[in-house]
Amino acid sequence: MSGNGGWFRNFLNRAGSGFRRFMTGRYGTDQLNTAILIVGVAICIVAMFIPSAIVKLILTTVSYSLMFWAVFRTMSRNTYKRYQENRKFRMLIDRIKDRDHRYYDCPRCRQPVRVPKGKGKIAITCPKCREKFIKKT
Ligand SMILES: [Zn+2]
Repeated sequence: MSGNGGWFRNFLNRAGSGFRRFMTGRYGTDQLNTAILIVGVAICIVAMFIPSAIVKLILTTVSYSLMFWAVFRTMSRNTYKRYQENRKFRMLIDRIKDRDHRYYDCPRCRQPVRVPKGKGKIAITCPKCREKFIKKT
């Protein structure tokens, strides 16, 4: 009962397993990749409405570079590094969303320290290395 559609389903199965084999050990996609692609496509759309040829060329180049970067990250076998990039990106987004706090990196050990906003000048003590530093919040 396979009929005429049989070869096509067979083809899809083969293509699917081929793709799965190709992607084995590769990183795949994540939030950072999605963001890169959205920005890349947005720049590409903006470039279409720019009359200046030079600006259009620059924007198109940036847009293609971003999309290439996203593809490169998806195909990457260095999954640990890609995972770390995505983790940093998500931390950055969390910081931007958090309007009640400011974030400082400890000058000694680079540990990020979160402090409440709008308190004026305060002395911050690093929770990791006990280094004290003064910042305006
Ligand atoms: Zn520290």
